[in-house]
Amino acid sequence: MTKIAFLGLGKMGLPMASRLVQAGHEVVGFDPVRMARAAFTQAGGKVAGSARDAATGAAVLITMLPDGKSVRETLLGSDGTTERLAADAVVIDMSSSAPLGTRALAEELKTKGIAMVDAPVSGGVRRALDGSLAIMAGGEAETIAKVRPLLEAMGKSIFATGAIGTGHAMKALNNYVSAAGLVAACEALQVGTRFGLDPTLMADILNVSTGRNNSTEVKLKPFVIPKTYASGFSLGLMAKDLRTADDLARALGVTARFSHLTAALWEEAQEALGAQADHTAIDAFLAKPT
Ligand code: NAD
Repeated sequence: MTKIAFLGLGKMGLPMASRLVQAGHEVVGFDPVRMARAAFTQAGGKVAGSARDAATGAAVLITMLPDGKSVRETLLGSDGTTERLAADAVVIDMSSSAPLGTRALAEELKTKGIAMVDAPVSGGVRRALDGSLAIMAGGEAETIAKVRPLLEAMGKSIFATGAIGTGHAMKALNNYVSAAGLVAACEALQVGTRFGLDPTLMADILNVSTGRNNSTEVKLKPFVIPKTYASGFSLGLMAKDLRTADDLARALGVTARFSHLTAALWEEAQEALGAQADHTAIDAFLAKPT
């Protein structure tokens, strides 16, 4: 049993922290939103009134926050959250953060004697609930080995990706590929429908043909075709991930023309629909005349 502080009990954090409780760990959660804290208590977790209180005496601190900026502010802010951790504690940032910021943060934590692993996830709310997330973990092999049982309580495919920050790089690049596939699928359906094709039949054909991708398989029928736009992953978070991937491409001097276009397109969609819209609502944005 490990004493764990879990910061961020949102759409993903709540089911992930609950999986750790079910695995028998002592988990103290914190989220500024009262409803989120209440939901975690209902799931059998303990809650604290601040990040600092949650961190007190914890051997592992897990963050599942909106982005790397909020992780940095929470960990290195003036309230001394990290100072409250147990000796030899490990911080695991499971948010989708920016890899270069993660490297800088890990260096600063190291000076305080705290090891860090970046372990972002893929699979969405459904796979967070059943503990079958894909987890990509960057950091020292020894530190990853130490926290692997915790990662295994939340995910099914655990990959060690290399040095600190590589998990976050992999996650942003995954979401770039995913977002590009979703846009192509939505546009194809819009063109096909206007030409007289049935969108559900189109999804069936795509799913056994070479255009198949994760979006055609799990997003078209439940969220795009009926226009429910309720996948549980916001447009603002996707736009952030695409900016992260594109910033990385630029920082490394990779041409990446399509990444530039994709990041700009999703930023425009975020301005039009708002950050809280579901990311599958990109379909509605794409349908509007330019
Ligand atoms: P969310 O907005 O539902 O949850 C974020 C939570 O963090 C909120 O409840 C918010 O109140 C809380 N929070 C903000 N600042 C805090 C602080 N200082 N201390 C404690 N809690 C704080 O977002 P989400 O969908 O759960 O996503 C979380 C992270 O996971 C993001 O980085 C996102 O990109 C990534 N992610 C999301 C999905 C998905 O399908 N939703 C999938 C994979 C990865």
